[in-house]
Amino acid sequence: MPPSVQSQGAYDSYAAARRQLASTQELLERITAAAASAPRPSSPTSIPAVQKVFNISELLEHILLRLSFQDILKAQQVSKQFFNAIEASSTIQKTMCLQPDPTSNYQRQADVVFRSWHLHEPRPPITIAQEKRIFLTAFVAHAPDSDDLLWRLGICIFSENKLPNPGGRIRSTLICQPPVLHMDVYATCCHPSDNIEDRGDPTSTVTSETGITIGDILDTATRLRAEHRLCPFAHPLHHTNEGFVEKHVEIDLEAMMKLPETDPIMLALQLRKRRCLEEWKDWPQTADRLHQYIISKQAALDNGMPIPTLAEFEAVSAEDWDALGHGGES
Ligand SMILES: [Zn+2]
Repeated sequence: MPPSVQSQGAYDSYAAARRQLASTQELLERITAAAASAPRPSSPTSIPAVQKVFNISELLEHILLRLSFQDILKAQQVSKQFFNAIEASSTIQKTMCLQPDPTSNYQRQADVVFRSWHLHEPRPPITIAQEKRIFLTAFVAHAPDSDDLLWRLGICIFSENKLPNPGGRIRSTLICQPPVLHMDVYATCCHPSDNIEDRGDPTSTVTSETGITIGDILDTATRLRAEHRLCPFAHPLHHTNEGFVEKHVEIDLEAMMKLPETDPIMLALQLRKRRCLEEWKDWPQTADRLHQYIISKQAALDNGMPIPTLAEFEAVSAEDWDALGHGGES
């Protein structure tokens, strides 16, 4: 990445962090003000107002839920009380993707984690730099054997990526909600990614009863890299000068998941489908009409006549049109 782009990225994340800090500070100030206006206890050993708020577990949960994923992680490191609040709250755990929530709207936590490692760009430019990144894709796809619409989730890790070694909380973070329980995995040294629909059996699979986590993804990528280091099917370009398969190879993890009908993604899809049907409902008649018109235009061209407009064509009946010399060869 050119230095200017990198420093722009650094500035953007600095600016975002500053905004986040300011909003957290504002939040804390509001809480402090609220606590300060409450009647003060007469006890001389009164505890600070903010601490009192934090001591009410529902309020603390409410505050933590307003923070970003990274801020919650930071919060648990600064205070045992915050750590325990996160441990105790099923709502926070689900929001942070630490506990499966099959009824959740679709939320891709892997985005947040990979981006915090500067390993993922939402819309990667087609440059050499892409080999240093993790790609995430997600789109709607038809189920192979039915009309069901599924959500297809992909994670692509390039062999040039040095994989991070995160702590327990991040490792146990689900890649998304609702959780994904099964992923097919392809090592592109022997399962090329050129034709995604026809790759044959996957190189490996990952399954989990509770949901696939960031840790599962990292472990799978690490294991497959090791197993395919001497892959006999790898292209010469996949080899380093020392002869190891460690270049330009992708570990692709793919999942198909059924989202609840009430998920905003599925609702938006249904809306789009309805609009399309509405827009195209008269199409068969229109297509027929235009087809006749196109024949008459071609006939006019063949006969050296001026090409009619649709209105001119439709103002004259077909026989009259022939009589005028616009008909085809018949
Ligand atoms: Zn291989």
